[in-house]
Amino acid sequence: MKKLLVLISSVVLIFLIGLVSLNSHSVQDRILNTGLKNILAGVEPFLDKEDSLKVVVCGSRSPLPSPGRAEACILVEAGDDIYIFDLGNGSMDNLTQYQVPWPNVKAVLITHMHSDHIADLPDAHLQSWVQGRNSTLMVYGPEGINLVTQGFELAYSADYQYRNEHHGDDMLPMTIAGFNPIQIMDNQLIPNNTPGLEILPFVVDHHPVNSAFGFKISYKGRTVVISGDTIHDGSVQKYSKDVDLLVHSAISIDLVERMREIAPLPQLNKILFDIQDYHTTIKEAGEISRDANVKHLLIYHAIPTPRNKIMEDVFFRPLVGVFDSYTLSDDGTRVIMPVGSDEVIIDQIN
Ligand SMILES: [Zn+2]
Ligand SMILES: [Zn+2]
Repeated sequence: MKKLLVLISSVVLIFLIGLVSLNSHSVQDRILNTGLKNILAGVEPFLDKEDSLKVVVCGSRSPLPSPGRAEACILVEAGDDIYIFDLGNGSMDNLTQYQVPWPNVKAVLITHMHSDHIADLPDAHLQSWVQGRNSTLMVYGPEGINLVTQGFELAYSADYQYRNEHHGDDMLPMTIAGFNPIQIMDNQLIPNNTPGLEILPFVVDHHPVNSAFGFKISYKGRTVVISGDTIHDGSVQKYSKDVDLLVHSAISIDLVERMREIAPLPQLNKILFDIQDYHTTIKEAGEISRDANVKHLLIYHAIPTPRNKIMEDVFFRPLVGVFDSYTLSDDGTRVIMPVGSDEVIIDQIN
């Protein structure tokens, strides 16, 4: 009994000392400095020594809200060079947190011009400007991409001016403020200076979006296909033959129908009905992967994005007996495909 009392008093004493110390400025300063150092140090997931084709999901969700996830964004690193496919809302926060070295970002590529794929373009413009971009930001996109970038330039013209005046011409020169939009053409390789890299855009069907693309990326024998948003029209399957990784968007009709039944607003009911006709179902994504002999299927832009294990299980039910080498991506999911091997390594960088 006495021993127990001594033990309890010691624990209470240690707790009180801790509490008092936390109020001391010197202890606070030390803890804060360590925290700030960790924030600035970041996670440095990029530019490791091993030559590989890497995919980092910088935005895993569809427009339907899902806390803690950004909208569509896929980063591809081939050797030391980085290409970013889509920049949905929240993706720039992720890219900043991942400490992406913007001088290594050779281009931004937009699959199509739905808002959930382009919303963070202005922040990418600012971040790359601050990190010493030496020309306007190169953005590949479908027909009309120039109108998107011109619109952003107009909306941000005062912002460009303010920042230039505040930080000076040496740091943020007006001569390179703005974008360099380049229209993507079906089946025409994206020009690049990364040794061993090919980026091939192909048209997909996301009607009524008049121009939408998927991409096949090949680097020294490793391959990945990004579907963008599309129905199953055969294109993704055609370009995915024997690829190491298929990054595919997918809809669960089952979950969307369940949500529609309980939708509190008629507008939401209608949207949940309308979106069913221009996305690939999760079952189709599995069948594409099976029939194209894909090594691994990485689901992103899931509609809706599962929020827990039960929802995830229901989302993937249609894949039972169809295809089992799949992963539901989160923000920060990374896939490493080392050159000269057939390994597909999946981990999480945050
Ligand atoms: Zn989308
Ligand atoms: Zn879309």
